[in-house]
Formats: sequence, C-alpha cells, structure tokens
Amino acid sequence: MRSFVSVTIGLGMCIMARAQQPAPTNDGTLFLNVRIFDGKSDTLSPPSSVLVRGRTIDRVSTSPIDVAGIRNVTVINGGGRVLMPGLIDAHWHAFMASAPQMLLMTADPAYLNLLAARQAEATLMRGFTTVRDLGGPVFGLKRAIDEGVMIGPRIYPSGAFISQTSGHGDFRFSFEVPRLPGGPLSHSEVEGVAAIADSPDEVRLRTREQLRGGASQIKLMAGGGVASPYNPIESTQYTEAEIRAAVEAAENWGTYVTVHAYTPRAIRQAVAAGVKCIEHGHLIDEPTAKLLADKGIWWSLQPFLDDEDASPLVNPVSQKKAREVFAGTDNAYKLSKKYKIKTAFGTDILFDARVASRQGAQLAKLTRWYTPPEALKMATANNGELMALSGFINPYPGKLGVIEEGALADLLLVDGNPLENIKLIEDPARNFVVIMKDGKFYKNVLPNKDSSFPTQSGTSIDQSDTAIRKK
Ligand SMILES: [Zn+2]
Repeated sequence: MRSFVSVTIGLGMCIMARAQQPAPTNDGTLFLNVRIFDGKSDTLSPPSSVLVRGRTIDRVSTSPIDVAGIRNVTVINGGGRVLMPGLIDAHWHAFMASAPQMLLMTADPAYLNLLAARQAEATLMRGFTTVRDLGGPVFGLKRAIDEGVMIGPRIYPSGAFISQTSGHGDFRFSFEVPRLPGGPLSHSEVEGVAAIADSPDEVRLRTREQLRGGASQIKLMAGGGVASPYNPIESTQYTEAEIRAAVEAAENWGTYVTVHAYTPRAIRQAVAAGVKCIEHGHLIDEPTAKLLADKGIWWSLQPFLDDEDASPLVNPVSQKKAREVFAGTDNAYKLSKKYKIKTAFGTDILFDARVASRQGAQLAKLTRWYTPPEALKMATANNGELMALSGFINPYPGKLGVIEEGALADLLLVDGNPLENIKLIEDPARNFVVIMKDGKFYKNVLPNKDSSFPTQSGTSIDQSDTAIRKK
C-alpha cells in the first residue's frame, strides 16, 4: 500500500513539475523608440523607452534607460511604432465563442475543451491578453494557460452562469425537466456551463460552488435573453432575495455579482439587490441609466448590430428578440455617454469561429459613438479597472490595461497609430508585430539584430516561431 502511495505521489509531482515549468524568460526586455498609448491618454507619448523585468513594467522614460546591470536584455527597436496595453474583452465565453451551439450541447467534452484551447490561443494572437469569461467550464483551461501548458489570455472566470428554471441559462432538453429538488443535474450543469438554481438557498449554494472552483466573479441571469428558448426578453428573472443571496456569498469572498439583463425592470431589481455590474442593458431607459450613474454601477455593453457579425438565428422568436436588442444599441451607448457611466467593452461572441476571428473588429465599431482613443481606453485601462473589482481573489493582482511603472507587462507593438486608425486592430496578424503577456513574448516578427545591447533573442522569445509560422 505504501509503495503504491509513494509511486502515485511521485508520479503526480512529476506531472506537476512538467506542467508548471515556466516558459524560458529573459532577464529583461527593452523597447526603444516607441510612442506610447498608455491606456488612459488621448494622445501618444514622445519617443520613449520601456523596460520590462519579469512580469511587470519596470521603467517608462523619454530618456535612455540604463540596462548595464541586467544580463540578457532583449532589445526591441520600435522604430517609432506605437506600444499599447494588451486588449481586454470584458464579456467573453472561452468555451463557447467559436463552437456551434448544437456541437456544444452534444459533443465529447474532451473534444470541446481542445477546441476551446485552440480558440484561446487565437484570442491571444488577436491581441486580447485578458478576457473576463462570463459563463462556461474554463477553470481547467485557465489553469493550463497560467501554467504555460497552453497559450491564451489571462482568464477571469465566472464558472457556470447561474439561472432560474426557464431563465436565460436554462438550455435543458425537454426530457431533463421537471427536476425534483435534489434530483440529478442536467447535461449543461454537469458540463459546468449552467447552474440552475431556484430559491435563495440554491442560488447561495451554486454561487459558492463556482467560488470553490475558482470563479473571480459571479454571473447571474437576471432577465430574458435572445438565444434562450424558454423566456420572453421582457421577463425579469430571479427575485431580489435570490439575487441578494448570490451578492452576499460573492461579497464574503471579496468579489461581486454581474448580471445579464436587458430591460429597466430587470436592471433595477438587480441593482437593488446589490450587483456591481450589468451585462448588456440594451433596452434601458433614461431614468435607469441615471440610476447606474448615480450608484457607480459598471455597464458592460456590447456593440450588437444587425450586421455581418450578428449571430445566425434560426428560431423566428429569437430573431424577433434580436431585432429588439439591435434597435436598442444606439440608445444604450448614447445614454452611457450622456451620464458618463463606467462602461466596459465586451463582445459576447458565441458559437461562430468566423465572428470570433473579428473580435477586434467589434471594438472598432465603437467609433459610431466614441473617438478611437475613447474606444481604446475602454478596452484597456477601463476594462482593467473592472477586472480589479474581483478584490482579494483577483487571480492576476497588479494593474492591467495600462502602460505605467509597476503594471503587468501585457503589451502590443502596433505597426501604425491606432489612435488615428482604429481599424488597425481588425487585422492583428498584420499590424501587431509584438504581442507580450506577463512579460513573455508570444509574437515578435521584428528583427532584433539592430539592437545596441547584447541579446539572446533565440532563447528569450519563446513561442514567437509558432506565431510566425502561422502567418
Ligand atoms: Zn454572454
């Protein structure tokens, strides 16, 4: 018995050691001659240097940075290009962004996880270095990325989204209902996509289960949705007491609840229950927008439009609901601007690999309502502020979405000026010449030869060859 135990423990440690082996790092990276969009300003800096050491930005300066005391510095001559923070998508579904819905509901979970991992790599290579995942089984994917086993963005996971029976997260097959209290879980619950809970006690239980799994925030369905078949878009979901049960459990863990809600009634009930963020809200009215502003509630808004990126819906009821939401988008952004609400940028792309590949193009669409600097600030510094709302369970403590000393080193080097031409982010393969996350290179297509410092680019630029091969 003892030998069996020691063998399994030994094997376990061996696997752990391999999984957690960090990608090779250099002692520092020096970006020379870059103009900086820092995530907060409307304009670029004068030509500057930025030194990255370990995982963070160590120095930002318009005068030369002395690196004489650091061995193995990789020097990137920016040639006047723009260095900006990595992009953040505040409403993402890493498990569900690119796989068709019916496949997600029926295929082997192992296969689906592999697809999600491939999509996570594509997400990072689009320049999205952080995503807030608002529903789906991504705890394992997050771990594999953090350990360097797979390539992808930082993930702020919610785990399963929590929904009432017949709510926006109830995608159960008809033969899975009715469920007796304490009865077996449905397929989507076993998979970790949804958690069906009715009553404050059940909501509290399912909230704590997500926190146990590693959720950095909790996502509740508080009103009707487009793609879900069993709820009118006008419906208000959960009671104030049920939402408050989740809020209390989340706040005891230092974090917050965000809710899916489109209508004024659903938004108001959720705000009364103590949620800190509203997802969507496209059917909001002016008094409710003012309420969000007065209470300092975050509004995580998506540019849902009736264009080539709209999800193809076969169900005529869903099509009608989608038209209602599209009609509200313009008003929602106008109200958000008018009342200076803390607004986050997210895409909420679901079930479609082609649309997922246009994640950056979704951000560029914000220029209907915002200047390019305003849109880019939303997807960097503002979204970074929202990530930090996860408090003491923040999986990536440190500043995200900004270029300043001490911030986490998630950086993009752009061939062109996105503050003037935001459409550059629509073609990341061509226009992002360097992608760095957590101080490590994931892409670098610049020659390092013109550096004036000794470099060891061959070992320090891990994975850049994969990126180049893909191009
Ligand atoms: Zn969503």
